[in-house]
Amino acid sequence: MSSRSSPVAGRHFIAGQWLEPSGTTFASASPARLDEVIGQFPQGGKAEADRAVAAARGAQPGWRRTSRIHRAELFDNLAQVVKRETDALASLMARECGKVVTECRAEVVEGLHMIQYVFGTGRMPIGDVLASEITEKDAFMRRKPWGVAAVITPWNFPFAVPLWMLGPSLLEGNTAVYKPSEDTPAIGQRLVELFVEAGFPPGVVNLVHGDAEAGEALVRNPDVNVVLFTGSYDVGKRIQEISASLPDRIVAAEMGSKSAVIVCEDARLDLAVTCALISAFKTSGQRCVSAGRVIVHEKLFDRFAEKLVSMAKRLRIGNPLDASNFTGPVINETAVQKVLSYHALAKEEGGEVLLDGSRMTSGESGKGCFLQPFVYRMEAKPGRRSIREEVFGPHLALIPFKTDDEAVAIYNDTDYGLSLAVITESYRTMRHFREECHYGMGYVNLPCIGAEVHLPFGGVKKSGNGRPSAAGLIEAVTHKTAWTVNHAEEVKMAQGLTTEV
Ligand code: NAD
Repeated sequence: MSSRSSPVAGRHFIAGQWLEPSGTTFASASPARLDEVIGQFPQGGKAEADRAVAAARGAQPGWRRTSRIHRAELFDNLAQVVKRETDALASLMARECGKVVTECRAEVVEGLHMIQYVFGTGRMPIGDVLASEITEKDAFMRRKPWGVAAVITPWNFPFAVPLWMLGPSLLEGNTAVYKPSEDTPAIGQRLVELFVEAGFPPGVVNLVHGDAEAGEALVRNPDVNVVLFTGSYDVGKRIQEISASLPDRIVAAEMGSKSAVIVCEDARLDLAVTCALISAFKTSGQRCVSAGRVIVHEKLFDRFAEKLVSMAKRLRIGNPLDASNFTGPVINETAVQKVLSYHALAKEEGGEVLLDGSRMTSGESGKGCFLQPFVYRMEAKPGRRSIREEVFGPHLALIPFKTDDEAVAIYNDTDYGLSLAVITESYRTMRHFREECHYGMGYVNLPCIGAEVHLPFGGVKKSGNGRPSAAGLIEAVTHKTAWTVNHAEEVKMAQGLTTEV
């Protein structure tokens, strides 16, 4: 890798102050070159989490009382600084999480779109005017913020996902404590620096670095009203379990998936192969929506498999700072071992290996966590873990089917339900999958990746609890109040209730 910069000095940010590091620290290393340290960061725990929640709680009444339009205008300031920093943010992200710089740039733009969306919604209605049974009564639905949000995010979208959560939360009058992934603390800290530069007041956005210990301390703090979590199912489940004991705790959880592309009998072959390659191997298969399965009509199977494998062999995998690469490394050594263990499992479960992706060990690639794509043919049979569980790496099953109903059954035979792509020329076929499959985001003649911030983003089953990120998050970070005003000079009640006293 080229362009090494001096390591980032990590610090928590609480109540408008950058805290001098003390106690235990951890390093953020580049997955493309494990000897390159991006920065050194303080390991937060209960003390820092509690302090940050207290700061957010203290700042919330003032922030809530600030004009909503002024809150929105701070997002316009933020948009300007993000535009100025786009290239620098993209290259820091590429170095820290290993995604190719073009993808990182697209992620910064996605974050920018969220900021612009939030700015735009600042002048939109914040409730509804409703009818009343009584002529003299005016009735309204008005939204109120919950209070303090804990924002706990994964490494794979370290800029856009925090903005999907922080944006609507802050606009609606909540304050926040943000804990970035321990794999991407530098980009997380940079985002908070930009919030500060944009003029967000002290205590409105607080930053606590660290791993599960810091995250769990935030979740256990009863003064946190809303936990906004994106990450793995196991962690999301734990957060939901801890939160169940708190009476009015809201958890919005976006979790893993085993997404799929369904290639129908009438699919255009080239389009289907392109969609499958992008869905499975962009970001080295480490998007929540990455396809671990391509479900292919048996009549097309051999031609499709041959073309996909020959193109997968030629994908350029390497230095994330080289914009001509298709993809970079996986995030860390643990991820390498997990992905390789699923390759072994697929073989044990009877998968016919079509492309045996192994670790890349020569040259510069040998210094990082690079894996070649792994592709296998697997018949769908109940209980086969390799085609049901999230792998989160370049690991792809090609599964043949005969009828559309069989394809639906294969698609739904996983505990997850996040993203679906259907490749077909027939609107009837497309509609059948749209109605029968379990998913949160569906695509036709497209890869199963490619979100836009104003569309709902979230899944069902183990993929999410139905409180979508991005624009849809308003439902999680506000509660609806009824506000009813009597304009008569005497009391009048609904349902014919008498007012005699
Ligand atoms: P992860 O679950 O390991 O970590 C996510 C965050 O949770 C990190 O900040 C981590 O420090 C924190 N955490 C860990 N243990 C915790 C605990 N006990 N209490 C509170 N916080 C805790 O996930 P990851 O490896 O960073 O990301 C990959 C996962 O995220 C994949 O499963 C992927 O599918 C999922 N993901 C989902 C979406 C979505 O929108 N559905 C988007 C991106 C990633």
